[in-house]
Amino acid sequence: MDGQALWSPRVRELVPYVPGEQPRIANLVKLNTNENPYPPSPRVVAAIEQAARQGLQLYPDPESTALRETIAAHHGIDAAQVFPGNGSDEVLAHAFFAFFQQPRPLLMPDITYSFYRVYCQLYGIRAELLPVDDALQIDMAHYAGRPAGGVVIANPNAPTGSALPLAAIETLLQSQPGSVVLVDEAYVDFGADSAMPLVEKYPNLLVVHTLSKARSLAGLRVGFAAGQRHLIEALERVKNSFNSYPLGRPAQAGAAAAYEDSEYFEQTRQAVIAAREELTVQLWRLGFDVLPSKANFVFARHPRQDAAALASRLREHGVLVRHFKQPRIDQYLRISVGTPAQCEALVNALRLLLPTPSP
Ligand code: PMP
Repeated sequence: MDGQALWSPRVRELVPYVPGEQPRIANLVKLNTNENPYPPSPRVVAAIEQAARQGLQLYPDPESTALRETIAAHHGIDAAQVFPGNGSDEVLAHAFFAFFQQPRPLLMPDITYSFYRVYCQLYGIRAELLPVDDALQIDMAHYAGRPAGGVVIANPNAPTGSALPLAAIETLLQSQPGSVVLVDEAYVDFGADSAMPLVEKYPNLLVVHTLSKARSLAGLRVGFAAGQRHLIEALERVKNSFNSYPLGRPAQAGAAAAYEDSEYFEQTRQAVIAAREELTVQLWRLGFDVLPSKANFVFARHPRQDAAALASRLREHGVLVRHFKQPRIDQYLRISVGTPAQCEALVNALRLLLPTPSP
């Protein structure tokens, strides 16, 4: 029997997102999924332990009230303007469902976080992909005034690491007053300007953050959206038609504690930024072209080496990086910024694999 005959028609058409490999092999230098190389603050671990000891037999607060309040205080907005979810992927999925099922297409760059297209397929959203320029930069001129059922921009963009200035985001918000503009700021803490201060001003702005990157909590699964009340209300409707309790007690407690240790946050994020700058220089010396990055990864290409082949040879040397088999970027490698020791291991492996560049 054809098992797929039992599936809903749309499921037969789905091409799911494929996350980077989470290897079971020990001692690999893992620079393939943009995790933070540093563990979360000890205060986060203490809060999770305490939550695990108290009340796990009870459902968690369905609204994550305390976490919302903490996030709101941190960003200077109202708790009612915060919508937490099970990783920003879940928040993004709810936002696509809530805002982008429109007669007009959703605008997004052709090179961006590939999960966006998967949500479009999942929810039957028509997307219009607007080409990034030859330097893989988002060209804002494409977006101004174009008929749209919404706009989604990752800032910094993934997998390029390139950031747009806040003025460009503001121009976009003004040029698309009738559409929700979703700005995915997963990597913003590594050096880009956040649109969070614009939330009060623009009723069409939704900013999405994750705790997986700069807050070192990829394993906890927490993200959130910030926006004016009418947008958050739509997200709450979708969430409450899907899962009342997306965040468990340990996740709510641990996520809130991450915002209480700003010193640790500052130290680890500065360490990642410094390692990124050093890694960029090392890659240049090995002959790579490296896009300027404001994220915790770099996007690099070697003019004389096939990227897929290089990724698989690096793997043989115990170093995992990410390669995307996608037109325009299939000669690039996305390399997450690790600790200085991890970056050095990558550079040493590359020195073995690459011929010495001529001076
Ligand atoms: N947005 C972007 C641009 C990302 O790269 C990622 C991480 N893969 C996410 C969102 C999702 O992050 P998470 O679900 O861990 O919050």
